[in-house]
Amino acid sequence: MAELHTSYYTIYVDLPQDSSRILLVHGYTGAFDMVSTKVGTYLRGNEVHRAPKPLYGAWTPDPDLPLESISLGDNTIDALRRRGYLTDLSFDDEVSQFRHIADIRHQQALDRSNFVFMPTYDCNLRCFYCFQDHLRTDPANGHLLGLMTKPVIDRIFRGIEDIESRNSPRTGPRNFGLFGGEPLLRANRPAIEYIVGKAQAMGPMTMWAISNATELEAYADLLGPEAISSVQITLDGPLAEHDKRRIHTDGTGSFAAIARNIDLALDTGVSVQVRMNIDRVNIDQLPTLARVMHEHGWAGRSGFVAYTYPIHAVNAATERSTTFSQWDLDVAIDRLREEHPEMAVIDRPDERLRRAARQLFNEGGEPHLRAEYCSAHSGMYIFDAFGDIYACWERTGEQRLRIGRVDASGKARMNLPLVEDWRSRSVATVNACTHCRYALHCGGGCAVLAEGKRGTLHANYCDGFANRFRAMVAEAFLDHEAGVVFDDVRQTIAAS
Ligand code: SF4
Ligand code: SF4
Repeated sequence: MAELHTSYYTIYVDLPQDSSRILLVHGYTGAFDMVSTKVGTYLRGNEVHRAPKPLYGAWTPDPDLPLESISLGDNTIDALRRRGYLTDLSFDDEVSQFRHIADIRHQQALDRSNFVFMPTYDCNLRCFYCFQDHLRTDPANGHLLGLMTKPVIDRIFRGIEDIESRNSPRTGPRNFGLFGGEPLLRANRPAIEYIVGKAQAMGPMTMWAISNATELEAYADLLGPEAISSVQITLDGPLAEHDKRRIHTDGTGSFAAIARNIDLALDTGVSVQVRMNIDRVNIDQLPTLARVMHEHGWAGRSGFVAYTYPIHAVNAATERSTTFSQWDLDVAIDRLREEHPEMAVIDRPDERLRRAARQLFNEGGEPHLRAEYCSAHSGMYIFDAFGDIYACWERTGEQRLRIGRVDASGKARMNLPLVEDWRSRSVATVNACTHCRYALHCGGGCAVLAEGKRGTLHANYCDGFANRFRAMVAEAFLDHEAGVVFDDVRQTIAAS
């Protein structure tokens, strides 16, 4: 038998102010274990392959463990082997094993389809950072701003049946989404009502919407567990700041209408995720916004979640120097939360990661390993008002980017090379990710941001993931040790 050595996919997580212990996480077995620093040092000393450095993106070094020669008892060695931290596989065989596991996960994800309707590319707001800005401001795109018609909706539902007939049998309710432009404009009501009715008629389903909520009152009777059950709404600060950013076409603000509609949505029992798009200009407004959330009685209400997301410089109006990386934003929010206890109502960007880790420690559940970052690389089908199909909502509106279209007879005609381009991206196919110990926890990062940086979808976009992952896992473990009770599993709407 080949000699045992440390698995290449072993992750070391240091605990703040605790040099006696270290958390081990295995990159593809999904094992999480607390060990003494002596065991960590043993593993470090038995590594035969170090992660290549530097990889592109925001990598951070592992915790500083001495490279010493240490011996351990047979029982400990055996336990480390069973959990995957020690292996007799060669480096190449381990990489093959990793790829095999990632491929299985990716195949499972490909079989889970979800369907997003973009009833229009039009929107009543003009936010400076919008990635679709050109669709509304460039007259050449004027033809795109119409509303999805009922015949097209009928066609798309036939197309959905066609897509499903090619996949493995579905388990669980169908998942539908509404996205735009702004899907829930008052004028869109007939189309949305028709979509909701047809989706309900297909059987059990869930439906989410990403809406600016300025005209959400026109949909009050379509909000609820059986119809649109979850809405993501954006507030970019308290009234004065928000109204500088999320403005109507005539320059007026939108905060007051949105706040009324958050009340309305919560009263109907739907879950409301308030997203705050944050840069270095509005971050200091967050404590005030948190107080507004308390004053409105949103904080602590069932179904209410507020979270932050870094603005990315995706158009010329967004100054790159004002943006945060996800990790930098997480650190900045953490600082604000220490200074302002009312900020507890606002989740950090990585809260989902921490909650997943907390669930693992508290309930001994299965780790959530994923081979792809979002469902643009698995089963997401985005339909626009013309029956064109796209994989990613940041890549819509240009026919040359569509992965297919639903034809007049309701057949989904797919553009196979483009389908392959989007759906094949996984941590098993992006080389840097295949050689990354964090890969099945990360998924490879956003492909669009990777393309912006490296010119191809098939590149990694690390965004400080190693740092973020270790920080969140350490925090989750300390919460677990302190007996913090995990209240619920809150979900945010995302392509992932
Ligand atoms: S898996 Fe994530 S952290 Fe690792 S190389 Fe890929 S993008 Fe970077
Ligand atoms: S995460 Fe990136 S690739 Fe995925 S849907 Fe969003 S923009 Fe597209």
